[in-house]
Order: sequence, then C-alpha cells, then structure tokens
Amino acid sequence: MSKSIRLGVIGGGQLGSLLCTAAKQLKVETVVLSDDKDGPAQKFCDHFIYSKYEDNEKLKEFTSKVDVVTYEFENIPVDFLNLIQREKKVLPSPKINKIAQNRKLEKTFVNELGIKTTDWVSIKSAQDIKKNQHLLPGILKSNTLGYDGKGQFVLNSLDDIKKDWCFTNDYILEKKVDLKKEISVVIARYSDGTMSFYEPIENVHKNQILFKSKIPADINDKIFDKAISNAKKISEKLNYVGVLTVEYFIAEKDELLVNELAPRFHNSGHLTIDAFNHSQFSLHVSCVCNLGSKPIGKISNAEMYNILGSEILEYRKKKFKKNEFFYDYLKKEPRDGRKMGHLTILKD
Ligand code: ADP
Ligand code: MG
Repeated sequence: MSKSIRLGVIGGGQLGSLLCTAAKQLKVETVVLSDDKDGPAQKFCDHFIYSKYEDNEKLKEFTSKVDVVTYEFENIPVDFLNLIQREKKVLPSPKINKIAQNRKLEKTFVNELGIKTTDWVSIKSAQDIKKNQHLLPGILKSNTLGYDGKGQFVLNSLDDIKKDWCFTNDYILEKKVDLKKEISVVIARYSDGTMSFYEPIENVHKNQILFKSKIPADINDKIFDKAISNAKKISEKLNYVGVLTVEYFIAEKDELLVNELAPRFHNSGHLTIDAFNHSQFSLHVSCVCNLGSKPIGKISNAEMYNILGSEILEYRKKKFKKNEFFYDYLKKEPRDGRKMGHLTILKD
C-alpha cells in the first residue's frame, strides 16, 4: 500500500478542525501545530503539536512529520512561514500571505489588476485623516492583524478622532460603503492551473461578525459573472495553489467592490460541506496535496448560521431535522462573540 500523504496545518481552531475532518475522508494524515494548547483541532487531527512559534525543537518535529504545510489563518509571521518553507513546501505560498495580511498591499494588488475596492488611503496620523475628509464617514482599519472587525473604528466626522490615539500602528482609512449586500466567492486552484469554484455566497454580518450565509445569493447575472471572473483573475495572478476566498461588497447602483482576500477556506464557505459534493476543505486538501482536480456539483441550496458564545449550550440540547446539520467546534469556553459552531440548513 502506498504511504499516505501527511499534511501539516498551522493553527488549531475550527477552520483547522474542519480541514482535518476533510483530510481524513481523503486518507490524508494531519499534523496540527498550534500555539493554543486548548486548540479544538486536536480532537480532529491525527497528531497535535502544541508549541509557541519560536520553539525550534517543536518546529523541527513538525516539519519532520509532514510532506507539505498549509495554514488555517493568514496572520502568521511571514518569516516563520519562510523558515518552514526551507524544510517543506508551504501552500498557499508565503508570498501571498504577505499580501493578504496587509490591507495596503492587498488593496494595491487588487487595484493594479483593474479591480475596484472601496476608496482608501494610508494613514499614519490624525493629520492624515484631516487631509482626507472626503473619505468620511469612513472606517479606520489597522493595516495588519484585523479579523471579525477587530482593530476597526468608524469615523463619522473628525470629532470621532480620539485625543488619546497615538497611531503607533499603520492604518488605512476606507470610505464607508452603503452596503446593499455582501457576497464571497470561494475558488480552488490546483498546481496545474485548473480552477474549481462555487457560486457566489451571500453574507449577512452582525456587529462585523458573519451571522448568516446563503446560496443562491440574491444578485443579478452580471454581478454573479463578475464576482467569479475577478476571483479567477486574482488567483491566476497570484499563481495560487489552494482555496482562496474573495469577499465583496455590493454598493448602491450594483457596484461590485473587493473588500478583502482570505488566502484560505472561509467561514462563509461552511455551507459547502453539506450543499455540494465536495467541500471547500476537501478542495483545499486536494490542491495542496496535489490529489487532482475535483469537479464541483451542487446538491442543494442552503443557509448557514454561526453559533456564537453561549448560544452553543442550547444547540447542544436541540434535536435536528434531516435537512439540518449542526457542527460543534468543541471549544472549551463559550466566550461572548466567539464562534462555537454552525448550523447548515439545506433548502430546496
Ligand atoms: P475583518 O478583517 O475584520 O473581516 P472587514 O474589512 O472584512 O474586516 O470588515 C468586517 C465587516 O465590516 C465587513 O464584512 C462589513 O460588513 C463591515 N465593513 C468593513 N468595511 C466597511 C466599509 N468600508 N463600508 C461598510 N461596511 C464595512
Ligand atoms: Mg472580512
């Protein structure tokens, strides 16, 4: 029997867990490296290594155990990924990671492809905001390390600039868009350049955290096609290998704007687990482990709801219908706003 492929996964959260589950179905072994000793992925992977990233011994153990390395979140220091890359291939390439973890580089990259984003400028001081009042009402976002709305401040006017802000980080100021809708496209690109993609997914956020995703997205054909052709263009330009998610805003007058790129499977793509023949996680494993391309087939329309914080306690007691699929991430503490699980409902 041929030796099974061993996939290294950096990060032990719910995305890592769902990736490990998909890998198992494809007979790919998983080794998770996590700096959280309670990382829920330890319950879903084959080997779990708890380590602070700077621990060289543990890193050696990790790279010696795996054939190829991927990651579940983009905010990993690029130097660390490059260090791993000396031993084992890291996919998607750390070069992409560098772009996706820096809003300025990301928006510049997208804009240079002729694809629209919100209007934005780089901000280093309160003075820079004053010089760019045309972008108010706007959102000040830390240039790096943001997720689920963290590191973001809404500025309706100059009065909202707090006196004690010291601008030690780099920021961008983005014009606040009157959002008609938000959608995402999840696309997989294989090393031979073949691509598979899902139809656009419609997303509803509450308090900047994804609340609900659904297919079909209620959008016109032009936006449908443009959202996919942009995603193809972006992944081709990046010579991407793996699953990439493009988050979009649809502004008034049906203007399609790229919000951000996630060099990975995405929360909005969780409904692909039940609504398609192959999930986003299965496609990612197939891309990075070079298992060959997979044509995607839709099984059903669907809605997905995130389960946050203590809501999980109710769900754990619930009985589900045949078309309802409940996922419990088995996290220890149901902290407020923390993603604890999700529910997918298949619809006709
Ligand atoms: P994160 O990295 O935290 O996901 P995003 O930039 O995607 O940051 O922002 C999170 C959410 O906040 C978006 O999905 C959207 O609902 C809202 N948001 C962000 N930027 C804007 C904007 N410029 N105009 C209107 N809404 C925005
Ligand atoms: Mg986002």
